[in-house]
Amino acid sequence: MIIKPKVRGFVCVTAHPEGCAAHVQEWIDYVKSKGPVAGGPKKVLVIGASTGYGLASRITAAFGSGAATMGIFFERPSEEGRPATPGWYNSIAFTRAARAAGLYARNFMGDAFTHDMKSQVVAAIKADLGQVDLVVYSLASPRRTHPSTGVVHKSCLKPVGTSYTNKTVDTDKGIVSEVTIEPANEAEIADTVAVMGGEDWEMWMKALRDGGVLAPGAQSVAYSYIGPEVTWAIYKNGTIGLAKNDLERAAKAIDAQLKPSGGRAFISVNKALVTQASSAIPVVPLYISMLYKIMKAAGTHEGCIEQMHRLFATQMYNGATAKFDAAGRVRVDDWEMRPEVQAEVVKIWPAVTTENLAEFTDIAGYREEFLKLFGFGLKGVNYDAETEPHIPML
Ligand code: NAD
Repeated sequence: MIIKPKVRGFVCVTAHPEGCAAHVQEWIDYVKSKGPVAGGPKKVLVIGASTGYGLASRITAAFGSGAATMGIFFERPSEEGRPATPGWYNSIAFTRAARAAGLYARNFMGDAFTHDMKSQVVAAIKADLGQVDLVVYSLASPRRTHPSTGVVHKSCLKPVGTSYTNKTVDTDKGIVSEVTIEPANEAEIADTVAVMGGEDWEMWMKALRDGGVLAPGAQSVAYSYIGPEVTWAIYKNGTIGLAKNDLERAAKAIDAQLKPSGGRAFISVNKALVTQASSAIPVVPLYISMLYKIMKAAGTHEGCIEQMHRLFATQMYNGATAKFDAAGRVRVDDWEMRPEVQAEVVKIWPAVTTENLAEFTDIAGYREEFLKLFGFGLKGVNYDAETEPHIPML
């Protein structure tokens, strides 16, 4: 099959196996180029391990400190005439590379929200690793079937209280327009908190603790975002922001449970980046396109792998003492939030239009990175050649 990108709005419905493998290899090479992360984790569970920040965490753990990794993810395999989702190919590429380097890597493909997945993983840790010393919680999901009630909760990206009007960009067509989003009702807020809040992270940590598979001193980290005022109505103060507040609540509860054995749990606030999850949020892709331009010019631009390597190497391990903000969060969004960067955003935001999008923002860089998520545009990959889309999960 010859696989080309097919972009439909904010998703690409195809993915390229060799391209995804080349993308994973770029991330591995980056981590290796930085040298070992001293005192880094050795046995790691990553929940949401196939793309974005979770995949970058897994790669940093494996190739930064030689960690054995278990990864959980929910991806779609290939079907007749249709390639698998990128996380499927990424996970195969990661697993091949890790095993070739003599590292343990095991995958669990399925719904992380279920009780069954939790018991399977606890049993596997017990059998293969004994215990884990780091649990990374990096799920981004549009829905969750609650494991106890069976209720299906769907998350939404809406403001709370009043409707919100702002600029947004159709990243595929390059059209800047105004979008108005009506506020969420109480049920939508509760559903979003049920999907993206902290309950499932707490359930995971309880299952791991009850199963006796958390090593003394084990740490756990989950990821959040805050961002600039221009996106607050849709992010920080919107439905997703309320879910993230609940994730912060869970971090404190889990931290209190891990502390007695010398461990900790915390939230790392990460930078806004192009991922499958962020491209679905209105307004945010326009902000990301601006941010990329400003941070690339300042020489401070980072992708998922640079962010996660910085988190591990300068906040969690390497003899580092984590710097927590007043709310107890680690801030690797610090370079994004620098006043000079945000002052530029405030200046450009009102001026950007469809006509000057290419001049005022790095929309080209956004698109390039978006396509890379699906394995397209990677150097050394022949996109005109036949490729085998049906690859079994390892
Ligand atoms: P992503 O879409 O790239 O990755 C999501 C992962 O979750 C994938 O591995 C996917 O397979 C897995 N997943 C989804 N539903 C699942 C399920 N039911 N069972 C098992 N696995 C499932 O997302 P991302 O952008 O890397 O987001 C990860 C975390 O980082 C989220 O908490 C997000 O809010 C946070 N974050 C993202 C950004 C950003 O700009 N992208 C910034 C800061 C924080």
